[in-house]
Amino acid sequence: MRNVYLDYSATTPVKEEVLQEMLPYFTEKFGNASSLYTPGLIAKQGLDKAREQVAALIGAEPREITFTGCGSESDNWVLLGVADKLKDKGNHIITTVEEHHAILHTCDYLEKHGFEFTYLGVDGEGRLDPEELEKAITDRTILVSVMMVNNEIGTIHPIKELAAVAKKHKILFHTDAVQALGNVPIDVKDLGVDFLSMSAHKIYGPKGVGALYTRKGVKIPNYLHGGAQENGKRAGTENTAGIVGFGKAAELAKEHLEEHIAHSTALRDYLAERIRAEVPDCFINGSMEHRHPGNLNVTFKYIEGESILLLLDQFGICVSTGSACSSKSLKPSHVLAALGISDELIHGTVRFTVGDFTTKEDIDYTVDCLKMVVSRLRELSPLTPKEAR
Ligand SMILES: *Cc1c(COP(=O)(O)O)cnc(C)c1O
Repeated sequence: MRNVYLDYSATTPVKEEVLQEMLPYFTEKFGNASSLYTPGLIAKQGLDKAREQVAALIGAEPREITFTGCGSESDNWVLLGVADKLKDKGNHIITTVEEHHAILHTCDYLEKHGFEFTYLGVDGEGRLDPEELEKAITDRTILVSVMMVNNEIGTIHPIKELAAVAKKHKILFHTDAVQALGNVPIDVKDLGVDFLSMSAHKIYGPKGVGALYTRKGVKIPNYLHGGAQENGKRAGTENTAGIVGFGKAAELAKEHLEEHIAHSTALRDYLAERIRAEVPDCFINGSMEHRHPGNLNVTFKYIEGESILLLLDQFGICVSTGSACSSKSLKPSHVLAALGISDELIHGTVRFTVGDFTTKEDIDYTVDCLKMVVSRLRELSPLTPKEAR
């Protein structure tokens, strides 16, 4: 049986070049980067190089990059850090209804500690209006946090315009760029953001490594306390092998960005075209114009996305329903709900994300299986109208 992985937004396989770069740091280069003898310096050199590689991918300076344990940690750190630092100035934070749970659940936590939130809404295509941000700002606003690319429907948000609005009011601006990294060009100086979250495992690097860009001159309290690792900003012995892998993955992402975008877009569009032509009673969610190059989010009427996922798995095909984080809960996706889609239709939604190892044959096989699966499920579903059977 064929194995087709179409869930690149959940995680990506580690590229061979990345793995090869990492391996020596488990064995001969195992030193603690804080140690002053030679093996320590060798480990430290690995970290320094990775910091340059990650910085280069987003147009930052190496000292503006702090490695963390994951993208979620970077998101938590910014919200909790800014809230703590500026609590005497204000208690209002602006974010959006489309954020990842790493942001939304941190907001829930802060709400219990007296902070207030405005969640900017989106239009039917998942797009934000920078004017809505302007209107939401109060003299108690201390932070604006808007994701660059949505993980479920792939919407690309106008971060430069939004950051300019925040800057005009002297408010700090954070963007969760975990889905954007390696999929859209990023230049932090041009964007004008103060903080930017990243994660290695979404760009063909290892799991359990993230980074936070903090603009030079901006300082927030530490999130992890202890040793003086990461220029005193994040305690804990560095995950040297993981960080070195992140660096290599960032270097490859920068080198192959255009190629990657062209490859993903072509296959994603081909998938969309075949589904539109060959599968009846379905629609695509989110803007096609301002979209992650590999993302396709489709609602299939009358049936359940979970059932589609499980039957496709029988054919060796991996897709997701919404985001991996919500797939184990029965709550309908908050992102699709924000688009105004009914709960019933949300439950019929599947996310396909293609990536560097996807081939045209993979897409053909997937559509062939999908057609069988959808028509089978519709035959069994009491919701299917007679004419659609
Ligand atoms: C995956 C993801 C995260 C979390 O990153 P981890 O490294 O898995 O913690 C945060 N935000 C977005 C948009 C993501 O897609």
